[in-house]
Amino acid sequence: MEDPNEIKKLDLEVVNRIAAGEIIQRPCNALKEMIENSLDAKSSLIQISVKAGGLKLLQIQDNGTGIRKDDLPIVAERFTTSKLEKFEDLNGISTFGFRGEALASISHVAHLTIQTKTRSEKCAYKASYEDGKFKSAPKPCAGNQGTTITVEDLFYNMPQRKQALKSPAEEFTKVSEVVSKYAIHNPQVGFTLKKVGESGFALKTPVKSSHNDNIKIIYGSQIAKDLLPMELEDPVHRFKIKGFITNLNYQSKGRTNLLFINHRLVESMLLKAAIDSVYGTFLPRGAYPFYYLSLELDPLTVDVNVHPTKHEVHFLYEEDIVEKIKMQVESTLLASNVTKTVYKQL
Ligand code: ADP
Ligand code: MG
Repeated sequence: MEDPNEIKKLDLEVVNRIAAGEIIQRPCNALKEMIENSLDAKSSLIQISVKAGGLKLLQIQDNGTGIRKDDLPIVAERFTTSKLEKFEDLNGISTFGFRGEALASISHVAHLTIQTKTRSEKCAYKASYEDGKFKSAPKPCAGNQGTTITVEDLFYNMPQRKQALKSPAEEFTKVSEVVSKYAIHNPQVGFTLKKVGESGFALKTPVKSSHNDNIKIIYGSQIAKDLLPMELEDPVHRFKIKGFITNLNYQSKGRTNLLFINHRLVESMLLKAAIDSVYGTFLPRGAYPFYYLSLELDPLTVDVNVHPTKHEVHFLYEEDIVEKIKMQVESTLLASNVTKTVYKQL
């Protein structure tokens, strides 16, 4: 048998790139982080442009608070944040971000440029970053209040990853899904998505819209006419759920479901299976509903401090809460005229 290799500490740069590659797996992950930052900055307009599905260029412009000029030198370092000070703050956190890893991660796997202007600064400032470090003093420039973040040549330094993501069209679909979901959940904010070089928008929602209208704009009026509002408030397990589910006229081959828990876009296998089982008794095999549900739980019962890529969440009293939601989906469906008609035909 051979002698084992010597154990050595990895260079910090290697460690950071590995960690960054875990958080940013494809363009839509970077975009999700940046949309959340724009929402945290209280923007009312978020404009996104992409080239090659975000692999060549991913740019997001918002009209939020901006970043202070003095913070620009450290903003892309790992674990720098304006949102959290003590571990205990996590209990009542109302922002999406808190760990200060997103911009740092992006700067380790792409060329990152930030242009920003706060309300009190006279002009905007622009700075570029590489591997968490900022490359030169922020340059003053003209610009409106808010922040524009430009991410270019994603994975330029990770050839295998770049190789694996060879379909810009597929990446664009995922980018567009992320924008669609955030636009539906945040109708007070206007969102636009466009491909650079194309004249029209791939997606555009107005400022101060509604959940319902945005579903119609994004998924078409066909779906909108089959939507049933659903709402439930439960004092025992202290949760609230609100949203829209489709009636039985709507039968899609693909699954489109939007689940937000405390305003975070997440997955819950348990809830998905429960809703599937309700529709499964009515819809033919292979046909799926559309639903958008926003679940609000007591923040103390959800742990937000899971790894950024883990979208699957668990919470206290999960089985009881899911069961109650399932019953509400069922009774909402049963109360709809469409269901009554389907029943008569059986
Ligand atoms: P986190 O969101 O966890 O704090 P990020 O790396 O995503 O970490 O961002 C670091 C910091 O940069 C944020 O805390 C915030 O102060 C600032 N920031 C990032 N994006 C924006 C933006 N679009 N508008 C204003 N500030 C931003
Ligand atoms: Mg963030």
